[in-house]
Amino acid sequence: KAKERGKNAFQFFTADMNQSAHETLKIESQLLHALERKQFMLYYQPIIEVASGRCVALEALLRWKHPELGLLSPTNFMHVAEERGLIMPIGNWVIAEACRQMADWRDKGRTLVPLAVNVSLVQFRMQQLAHTIHEAILRHQISPRQFSIEMTESSLMQDVEATIATVEALRGIGISFAVDDFGTGYSSLASLKRFKPNKLKIDRSFVRDIPRDVDDVQMTTAILDLARSLNIEAVAEGVETPEQLEFLRREGCALAQGYHFSPPLPPDDLLAWLDKNADLPVV
Ligand code: C2E
Ligand code: MG
Ligand code: MG
Ligand code: MG
Repeated sequence: KAKERGKNAFQFFTADMNQSAHETLKIESQLLHALERKQFMLYYQPIIEVASGRCVALEALLRWKHPELGLLSPTNFMHVAEERGLIMPIGNWVIAEACRQMADWRDKGRTLVPLAVNVSLVQFRMQQLAHTIHEAILRHQISPRQFSIEMTESSLMQDVEATIATVEALRGIGISFAVDDFGTGYSSLASLKRFKPNKLKIDRSFVRDIPRDVDDVQMTTAILDLARSLNIEAVAEGVETPEQLEFLRREGCALAQGYHFSPPLPPDDLLAWLDKNADLPVV
């Protein structure tokens, strides 16, 4: 059922759909104005504790309500943002909006679970990322334990020294971080030990064909073993079926996320989902 809801909620084109030159042009010409025109939104996807079925965290995912093209995913426009030097203003908006939303939920009397925000390499390399986050959480009186960031494995490895400086600055203010899309980049064990991420998110491409595909099964169990031995929590991304979840449970994966539980939802739909799923086993 989550899957049906997911289909209705997802009427934007996906990364594998070909973007026509016409659409690319529309994205390029209008991205510059999207912020001032308040066309960005954050959607929220539950992160589930496999053992209990409880929602223990959320991930914020950026959406652009494009006036002609509909709801766009970052895969459709972040590369343009990068080319046009718009990563910082958009990234700062995401951080501010995530904190504003959490404060709003808290003020409405909701119990907060930690919220993870994705940051891009450009933001991560800037020395002030920790400062920007610190300011935003202080302004909204959000605890640093309720805020975390996700960074893809491939960007983390591009500049290990800068990465370590940022990770330490974040850790200094109590912000934890997850390595996103893990398994698609080239982390060395040595650098993983130095970063000490709090979570490893197993890339969706490995989860998709478990438990059927032998290679993916091996890859997933290898990442789970690695996470266990480094004492890092593992999160499986893109869990869509009970079979995938059962496999992950058997292999001792702590956390999972995907359409099997819920697609990313706009804030009000998320609250409704939380109310409906609070006491239900998710499996
Ligand atoms: P990600 O952080 O790895 O996010 C997970 C992506 O998988 C999201 O795509 C989510 O909608 C999708 N997803 C979740 N569950 C399932 C599932 O069961 N099946 C399938 N097929 N997909 C699932 P989305 O929202 O299109 O975001 C794509 C990427 O864009 C994100 O990947 C993240 O790297 C980036 N991104 C998203 N929001 C932001 C942001 O605010 N700032 C930055 N810098 N990057 C962002
Ligand atoms: Mg992510
Ligand atoms: Mg990911
Ligand atoms: Mg991804």
